[in-house]
Amino acid sequence: MAQGVFTFSPGPAVLPLPVLEQVKREVVALEGIGISPLEMSHRSAWFAQVLEQATENLRRLLRIPENYTVLFLQGGARLQFSMVPMNLLRGSKLPADYILTGSWGKKAVEEARREGQAHVAYDGQEHNYSRVPSAEELQLSPQAAYVHFTSNETIQGVQFHQWPEGNGPLVCDASSDFLSRPMPVERFGLIYACAQKNAGPAGVTVVILRNDLLERVPPGLHSMLDYRQHAKAGSLLNTAPVFACWVLMLVTRWLLEEIGSLEEMHRRNQAKAQLLYEVLDQYPDFYIGHAQPQSRSLMNVTFRLPSEELTREFLAQADSQGLKELKGHRSVGGVRASLYNAQPLEGVERLREFMLQFVKRHAPSRC
Ligand SMILES: *Cc1c(COP(=O)(O)O)cnc(C)c1O
Repeated sequence: MAQGVFTFSPGPAVLPLPVLEQVKREVVALEGIGISPLEMSHRSAWFAQVLEQATENLRRLLRIPENYTVLFLQGGARLQFSMVPMNLLRGSKLPADYILTGSWGKKAVEEARREGQAHVAYDGQEHNYSRVPSAEELQLSPQAAYVHFTSNETIQGVQFHQWPEGNGPLVCDASSDFLSRPMPVERFGLIYACAQKNAGPAGVTVVILRNDLLERVPPGLHSMLDYRQHAKAGSLLNTAPVFACWVLMLVTRWLLEEIGSLEEMHRRNQAKAQLLYEVLDQYPDFYIGHAQPQSRSLMNVTFRLPSEELTREFLAQADSQGLKELKGHRSVGGVRASLYNAQPLEGVERLREFMLQFVKRHAPSRC
């Protein structure tokens, strides 16, 4: 980002400035080594340390118990939509339960259907994916191979603020709120997250899984699709995305050293999101929020204006003032402001100010 320019992109998204500055300093030659991180072997001692540090930092930040393995894979979160059912549903007599609260969960269940019984335990379609379900609304199987949900639906801006429970290991697509708040890892069977929303650049996906689930992996899977093989190889089954893993490690270090903890990160994220939701609550007929209040996302604030024309005008003016990438996803339209960990408070304050001025200019009668 240049001075005075802020990106609200949903992903690849804003990265911490100190991390970008370190990348800039070292991209040509790593300090003390003299070779670019883009040229480093994934089999080098340096990279072994990068992976070890990243793992250690994740374990500290999330308090990951000993009996969990951390993997660094490729293929994005989308490949996990396939790998999860290939490894944990294929050949099982049990169904997998899917809780659908938005676009990503719907895509995940489509892939699961290719591998076995995928049971939709909840589908928020009837209210246009505007909230997460209560525990009573879930139609869970008596016993499930696993229970899949999306902690934050990036497109709709709908987030779980209480962890759901089911009758099998919980599997969470945490792509867009990973490391934004604490997570009780011990309550999950598997957590996955692509890096490019909150944890680094595109190219690496973190998978945290409970070791006993590895015993369920059916024989005969292609090695690149088999969690056991990746675990055995220490995430080095093939050429790892060295640069992406290095930046992810720097982001986790930034969280530990500059922010301190995920509790503190969560507190800051709440404060940032609050600045925008206050404006939505102040002008509910002008900034029409998508998510119902109890399910509002701290990461992606989604809303519409009273007309398409005003929405276009809003986006164009915001862009010309340095507030970039605010367009909602093509499937839902409107505006989406993504406020991931690295979004500076100043950027959110600038957007809030812009929203207040825009409503005054275009709907003075409402003010
Ligand atoms: C972005 C996103 C994905 C897709 O990630 P890719 O790395 O592009 O495959 C999946 N789930 C959620 C919740 C996301 O935000």
